[in-house]
Amino acid sequence: MNKRTFIKSTVLGISSLGLGCSSLLNKNQGLTGKTHSLTLSFDDGFKKSFYKVAEIFEAHGLSACFNVIASGHLPSFQKVDDWILPELLGNFDDWNALKRRGHEVMPHSWKHLNLARQPLEESKELILKCLDYFTENLEGYENEEAVFNFPFNSSTQELEEFTLSKVLAIRSYENNESSKDNLFRKGCRTMGPTNIDSWVDKQIKNFLKSKGGWLVLNVHGLDDEGWGPMSSDFLSKLLTKLISVEKLEILPTGYVLNNLKALDTQ
Ligand SMILES: [Zn+2]
Repeated sequence: MNKRTFIKSTVLGISSLGLGCSSLLNKNQGLTGKTHSLTLSFDDGFKKSFYKVAEIFEAHGLSACFNVIASGHLPSFQKVDDWILPELLGNFDDWNALKRRGHEVMPHSWKHLNLARQPLEESKELILKCLDYFTENLEGYENEEAVFNFPFNSSTQELEEFTLSKVLAIRSYENNESSKDNLFRKGCRTMGPTNIDSWVDKQIKNFLKSKGGWLVLNVHGLDDEGWGPMSSDFLSKLLTKLISVEKLEILPTGYVLNNLKALDTQ
């Protein structure tokens, strides 16, 4: 069975920057006074899906969280598996337009290679190339405020350390030894390759039954696009239901981390 048909786990890591985990945890009571924070983290950069996600989020007064491939729109970009097809991906005019509308756009690598499987120096170069491209092409982008989302949520200790020396935070495997005690490496899962509506619903229902925290679900496209898509109708109904949940806030990853960082340095 293809590895990608298994449930995958992803996590968030935050660079040290003098941030104590416990002090941050104490402040992670929700940025808006809520006990439960939820992020739907959309990967890859599917143009049609991302505009649709943006519309649905806007209709609910929310900002979406997008992670895009730096070279996805360039002629050199090669398709990845059966899901990330060049003709489906947007470009930086799209990403700037979505950002101007109040959504978050973060790096998801240069060309979606599994960086853990490349020679270390090559992976580092690809990460820098991605970050440089974002710096040059995405309005208002700063590495110090960025979350780098590893393709396939696959990384190594060396790569994580290297990347964390360049950006605010990373998203990678949760079974990484270095992430076990990091309270900001929140375990989350992604499901595919078929429709994930009922799976998302179950993850969130279980989360809402818990005492609280921060749940990050790594998702991809809508309807017929991407690995493990959600249906747009489901997403719309889900958000309608969730925005009325008193204890829940729905926020982009970088927004949460940058606000926590600001709180920590006050
Ligand atoms: Zn991806």
